Amino acid sequence: MGLRHASVLIAAFVMTLAAHPLKTLDFYFIDVEGGQSTLIVTPAGESMLVDAGYGGFDGRDPGRVMAAANDAGLTQIDYLVTTHFHGDHVGGVPELSRRIPIRTFVDYGEPVENGFGARRLYDAYSLVRANGQYIRPRPGDRLPLKGLDVDVVSAGGALITKPLAHGGGANPACAALVRKENDETENPRSLGIRLRFGRFQFVDLGDLSNANLAALFCPDNLIGRVPLYLVTHHGNSDTNIPAVLAALHPRVAVMNNGITKGGSYDTFRELHTAAWLEDVWQLHRSQNTEENYADDRIANLDDTTGYAIKASASEDGSFTVTNMRTGETKRYKK
Ligand SMILES: [Zn+2]
Repeated sequence: MGLRHASVLIAAFVMTLAAHPLKTLDFYFIDVEGGQSTLIVTPAGESMLVDAGYGGFDGRDPGRVMAAANDAGLTQIDYLVTTHFHGDHVGGVPELSRRIPIRTFVDYGEPVENGFGARRLYDAYSLVRANGQYIRPRPGDRLPLKGLDVDVVSAGGALITKPLAHGGGANPACAALVRKENDETENPRSLGIRLRFGRFQFVDLGDLSNANLAALFCPDNLIGRVPLYLVTHHGNSDTNIPAVLAALHPRVAVMNNGITKGGSYDTFRELHTAAWLEDVWQLHRSQNTEENYADDRIANLDDTTGYAIKASASEDGSFTVTNMRTGETKRYKK
């Protein structure tokens, strides 16, 4: 190779580096008015969507998922994780599948609720699921995304019983645990994941609640500390367990509440008293309470807009959070 060729190659390499700085793991906490839809895009370009919000409302939630997918440059959803079979999580799937290919479906099987509404939701979803690959994981399984570890910690009412790698030890906050029974809904059966990328960790437990939520953290913290925590069950009271928050010890929490859905007074109070928590970002200002965080930490001040909150994490554990309404980005250094 001549000198000139070599220098051209080096110049091309430098330009490539400039165009592609170290890749981040990106999260879009999509506003689905108090349901869940969280789009995760890995440094390898794979995508995992956790829930798809509500159906109906003229395709509102699938439309918002598509806005995030377009922002991320996606042409397909590689993995769709359905945490549980409630309308605010699985309702948007059939319409979304008409707008973008969904390759692999991940869920815990079928619902325990048997009412007409629950069956209709599940029937519509399972028809779509039949068109793709399907993974029905058990707690302790790892989803096959490249370049990061996605561990399933709960599914269909079963839970991991041993600490994950990088999990925690005995949790002293469990001394004050008030035990509550699981309810009979899908919520305590939610499929939960812990995601690890280098030194960065994130937890999404869907609507896991009451005894099953507590069992992941008491008496031992099986999951470990996470810098970024999606507040479970939209910030409802049945997931406000101080020992859980103490175990996770997040630097930043995101709450996917609606204007009147989730966002309970006692959950806000608990978050406000956690001294180590640097910020809480809300998808909506809540009308349930006066305990909201400052407006610049809130993506939607009422229910007339549908802005997301975006987070980007690096392997060294640092991350940024952006309010898509204001454009403000805050950096959380390692
Ligand atoms: Zn929900």
